[in-house]
Amino acid sequence: SNDVKNGQGYKGHSMLAPFTAGWQSSDLHPLIIEKSEGSYVYDINGKKYLDALAGLWATSLGGSEPRLVDAAVAQLKKLPFYHSFWNRTTLPSLDLAKELLEMFTARKMGKAFFVNSGSEANDTQVKLVWYYNNALGRPDKKKFIARAKSYHGSTLIAASLSGLPALHQKFDLPAPFVLHTDCPHYWRYHLPGETEEEFSTRLANNLEQLILKEGPETIAAFIAEPVMGAGGVIPPPSTYFEKVQAVVKKYDILFIADEVICAFGRLGTMFGCDKYNIKPDLVSLAKALSSAYLPIGAVLVSPEISEVIHDQSNKLGSFSHGFTYSGHPAACAVAIEALKIYKERNIVDQVNKIAPRFQDGIKAFSDSPIIGEIRGTGLILGTEFTDNKSPNDPFPPEWGIGAYFGAQCEKHGMLVRVAGDNIMMSPPYIISPGEVEELISIYGKALKETEKKVQE
Ligand code: PLP
Repeated sequence: SNDVKNGQGYKGHSMLAPFTAGWQSSDLHPLIIEKSEGSYVYDINGKKYLDALAGLWATSLGGSEPRLVDAAVAQLKKLPFYHSFWNRTTLPSLDLAKELLEMFTARKMGKAFFVNSGSEANDTQVKLVWYYNNALGRPDKKKFIARAKSYHGSTLIAASLSGLPALHQKFDLPAPFVLHTDCPHYWRYHLPGETEEEFSTRLANNLEQLILKEGPETIAAFIAEPVMGAGGVIPPPSTYFEKVQAVVKKYDILFIADEVICAFGRLGTMFGCDKYNIKPDLVSLAKALSSAYLPIGAVLVSPEISEVIHDQSNKLGSFSHGFTYSGHPAACAVAIEALKIYKERNIVDQVNKIAPRFQDGIKAFSDSPIIGEIRGTGLILGTEFTDNKSPNDPFPPEWGIGAYFGAQCEKHGMLVRVAGDNIMMSPPYIISPGEVEELISIYGKALKETEKKVQE
């Protein structure tokens, strides 16, 4: 009856584009973004959009922070590049490592290892854990447990860890050493009458059963995002991390916190681990580490692991891993400046000031007959469209409800993330109260139009 329901009208529209990045061809009719200013970006036709996803959960300080630009320029003029192989390095990379280790207080961390992206951080995690277990003489302890619907990146190993079928199908993934356990999404997966705590207990029991079935001596590490991002913004149910941590600890399994989205204030705490009392052995960072002005990621490694890895008597020899651009001086200089700004501006307080209106303003639309659930915390929010308010009544995918909503936002000047019938938002931390009102107003308009389409 209409172009949305038959899926044709939005062919070629950016909102219907599949999960893919990197292709660069104007034949694909991309939306071309040309400049940014604070919480806004502009396309090549001069159209202004509120950037409700901060680029890709990334430009935490918005699109025009001069201090980050100045930090990059000053470093590029002084020393645009030097590598960090063979124990050579640069001051920005040393300073950034020191700063990160001081900032991360959920538990004491020993060393930082720099990479260029979240995917590389998670690939590095796997190699670090394997090396560590090999050095301890337990080479069979090499499997990883991740969760359904998690996202850990797109390189072969990071895509394996990810629990999204689209990243596995047609690629011979996941790799055989990766196992997936339950997605901790209470609304979708709880049993009738089950409380959040009971749900968490059941998931922790399932995790333990999986470990016992595989043999604890074969399981190296468990990896989790504090709040799942790309899988649809899924905050953990009450007591989940407490229970899951107890299980992994019992079987001497390392805990990797993938903080690529959650770190540096997104959840209203400096790190996601602070919010959920997670005491990880390893941490992955990227995105807001540099407010995305230059690519950089990092892995923080516990003192216990780094001691084993740097033990000179270790017969394995050096940890043979690293990238040309590991600790790139300009990226490190930008990251140092970003961390300075987070501290000087009390970014966590700033997020906590703006977040309640963002959360409440959007959650006020929960009554909409086409919304199944709105969920989030701090400056991250997910909306899931379903029929009858039920997780079990999805709209037919060919109706493209999520894509339609995203297209209406775009029409009204706002960019969100669309994945099927999930909508995700994670605005920059610098979003002003007025801009939050604009975000809520555009969301409301797009929702009204989407409700109307569904009724047609
Ligand atoms: N981990 C998480 C939790 C992410 O959200 C992402 C990207 O969105 C990644 C890892 C991968 O990061 P990158 O795209 O920088 O490789």
